[in-house]
Amino acid sequence: MTSYPQDDDEAYQGDYGAGYVGSFSKDFVYGPDDPEADVNMLFPNDQKPKILLMGLRRSGKSSIQNVVFHKMSPNETLFLESTNKIVTDDISNTSFVQFKILDFPGQIDFFEPSFDSEKIFGGQGALVFVIDAQDDYMDALNRLHETVIRAYKVNPKLKFEVFIHKVDGLPDDSRIDTQRDINKRVTDELNDSGMEGIHLSFYLTSIYDHSIFEAFSKVVQKIIPQLPTLEKLLNIFNSSSGIDKAFLFDVWSKIYIATDSSPVDMQSYELCCDMIDVVLDISNIYGLRDGEGEHLAAFDKDSASIIKLNNSTVLYLRQVSRFLALVCIINEDNFQRPGLINYNFLCFREAIIEVFEIANQKNDGILALVSNPEEEQERETQRDQNNL
Ligand code: GDP
Repeated sequence: MTSYPQDDDEAYQGDYGAGYVGSFSKDFVYGPDDPEADVNMLFPNDQKPKILLMGLRRSGKSSIQNVVFHKMSPNETLFLESTNKIVTDDISNTSFVQFKILDFPGQIDFFEPSFDSEKIFGGQGALVFVIDAQDDYMDALNRLHETVIRAYKVNPKLKFEVFIHKVDGLPDDSRIDTQRDINKRVTDELNDSGMEGIHLSFYLTSIYDHSIFEAFSKVVQKIIPQLPTLEKLLNIFNSSSGIDKAFLFDVWSKIYIATDSSPVDMQSYELCCDMIDVVLDISNIYGLRDGEGEHLAAFDKDSASIIKLNNSTVLYLRQVSRFLALVCIINEDNFQRPGLINYNFLCFREAIIEVFEIANQKNDGILALVSNPEEEQERETQRDQNNL
C-alpha cells in the first residue's frame, strides 16, 4: 500500500486528523489601509498562472477554496468569516499544480484608482466567478458582466469560468433551467455591449458533492498546456493495458489534471476520489514515521494500491510523483496479467516525466514535477532494467 509523504503534517490534518488547522495563510492577508501596497505585493515577479476567485460576498468563495485545496469538510465552512480583503493562497507547496488563487472580497470596486487591473487580470490564468444559485442572482450577474468586460479589456487570453454554486439547495429539475437562464442573460448582455467574442463556461457546483472538484479539474485543465499530450499518453496506456478509464490526479486536491479521451462519468470520478481518500487515510495511520513521530517521505517506484470490488471492477493506483497519482478502473477480466499493466505504467511514467522535464527546461513555469536525485537514480535503474 502506498504511503504518502507527510511533510506538512499540520496542514494535512483536515478530514483525517485533529481537524482543520487555521484558515488562510496570515502572511498573505493585506489590510485595506494601504491598497497600493496590497496590489504591488500580490505579484512579486511571479509568472505562475493564477486562478482568480471572484463573486459577491457570501457566494461561497472561501468555502470552495478551503474545501478543494485545504481539505476542510463542507460543514465546517458554516463557520467561515466572510472575505473582506484580497487574499492570495499559494498552494504550490502542497500540490502538483502550481497556481495561485486570489480570493477577492465581493464588494471590491474596479474603478477605484488603487485597483490595478493590469496586475490583477494580467498574465496567464482563469477567472472563476461564483454565483450563489440559492439567492436572487441579478446583482451577481451585473457584477459578472462588469468584471468580465473589465478583465477582457486588460487580458483577452484570460479564461472565464462561471460557477453556479450551492446547487445542492435547488431541486434537481430546476438546476439545468437555472444554468440556461444565467447563460442566456449573461450572453445577451455581453452581445448587447458588443462583446460577442468573449467565451464563458458554466458549471453547476456544490461543496457538498464532487461537482466542485470536477469543475475545478476542468478549469485547471484549461491552463495546462501539456493536456493534449497527457491525454494521448493515457489513451495509449489504456489501450495497451485493457483499462477502461484512467485519471491523472493531483492527490492533494483530488483535481484530475488529465484523463483519457473517453467520456467522464461522475460515478467513476467519485470512485477514484474515494480510493485516494482511502489510500491517504491508510497512509496517514500506518505510513512510516521516524523516531519523533514525523512522517517520512515514503515514495518509491513500487508504491501502489489495488482494490477489487465485488462488481468485477478493479481499482488500480500508482504514484507518478510525490503529488501525482494515476488511478485506473479496470474490468476484472482484463486484470489477469498485472505484470503487463505494471510494465506499461513504468513506460507511461517515464513519458510523463519527460513531458514535464521538457516543460521545465523551456521554463514555462506552469507545472513542475517534484524530482530529486534519489528519484532520478531510481528512474535510471528502472530504465536499465527495462533495457535488459
Ligand atoms: P464568501 O464570502 O464568498 O467567501 O462566502 P463563504 O465561503 O464564507 O460562504 C458563505 C456561506 O455559504 C457559508 O455559510 C457556507 O457554508 C455556504 N456555502 C458555501 N458553499 C456552499 C454550497 O455549495 N452549498 C451550500 N448549501 N452552502 C454553501
